[in-house]
Amino acid sequence: MGGVTVRLDQLPLRDDLRGKTPYGAPQAPLPVTLNVNENTHPVPQEVADDVLDSIARALRDVNRYPDREFSTLRESFADYLGHGLTPDQIWAANGSNEVLQHILQAFAGPGRTALGFGPTYSMYPILTAATGASWIAGTRAHDYTLSPEDAAAQVADAEPDVIFLCTPNNPTGTPLSLDVIEAVYEATDGVVIVDEAYQEFAPRDEQSALTLLPGRERLVVSRTMSKAFAFAGARVGYLAADPAFIDALRLVRLPYHLSSLTQAAAIAALRHASTMLAMVDDIVEQRDRISATLDALGYDPHDSWSNFVLFGGVDDPAATWQALYDRGVLIRDVGIPHHLRVSAGTEDETTAFLDALASIDSAP
Ligand code: PMP
Repeated sequence: MGGVTVRLDQLPLRDDLRGKTPYGAPQAPLPVTLNVNENTHPVPQEVADDVLDSIARALRDVNRYPDREFSTLRESFADYLGHGLTPDQIWAANGSNEVLQHILQAFAGPGRTALGFGPTYSMYPILTAATGASWIAGTRAHDYTLSPEDAAAQVADAEPDVIFLCTPNNPTGTPLSLDVIEAVYEATDGVVIVDEAYQEFAPRDEQSALTLLPGRERLVVSRTMSKAFAFAGARVGYLAADPAFIDALRLVRLPYHLSSLTQAAAIAALRHASTMLAMVDDIVEQRDRISATLDALGYDPHDSWSNFVLFGGVDDPAATWQALYDRGVLIRDVGIPHHLRVSAGTEDETTAFLDALASIDSAP
């Protein structure tokens, strides 16, 4: 086989994509993989059985296109989210990455801009550039927090068309208070996306940005089933916004973008929301154990409201990453000097990571 191979730069690629690198967190078959903030707990058997039955039923009609409006799934998400939300305020796609892509396709694009406060989720600039829009790198305070005044001033100055507010923020774990979201919304005529991919790991009494939706038609709250729901492989993300905002997303989605098998699987999993979310408390416990142990080992963990911990005080992140890899533990070098990020795993996986790290002398 083989055939003629050319280099990428010899193809008539769009000029604005030349020299860019794709998203590429390493996927390696190591015993302990704590690098992409997955939920490492398997789906409970009784839920898996129900999901399987639902997929089997959906298969009988797989000769037909799926419900393009995924009406039952939207009802399920509205029920799960609460806050008086109705199905016409819900959108879903193959992972929240695709949800974010739909927003950018509708509201960014050539000649427009999107802004996020770095360090933040690495896909935002990639998704933005893919629609032909330009990325504006906003900044955070030294401890990765963001004040309402600072955030609003940066937004007023840059006048972006789309603003990303990630809370709790990836890769730092930092929460964002609702005042920041309100201040940013007031400072712009653009779309404000609050990415709550990790919201279920935040303290239970903390308010979600969903409470801010009434009366704010340019505000959108994005969620995913990939993290707390342990459903990353199924690829299901969703959002809540004004019904008119949902109409905008219909203009850019591919027809039938959510397969009938995906819809069936997600509807079944949502029927078992409390069972699916039962592991969240365990994961939060492991996250806090990671932070406490890292601190005791002489590292500098950042406060986290998510299912991962970013820690500083690493002499040579690439060397520590490799030493952990050699011990069968995969974590993430997110490119922040002297920092690494680790997802909270099961108790055993977390122990394996902490023991492996303790056996490496990498704190200064
Ligand atoms: N938002 C944030 C902040 C994330 O960290 C991730 C995945 N790591 C996503 C969105 C996308 O997740 P998914 O496409 O699996 O829903």
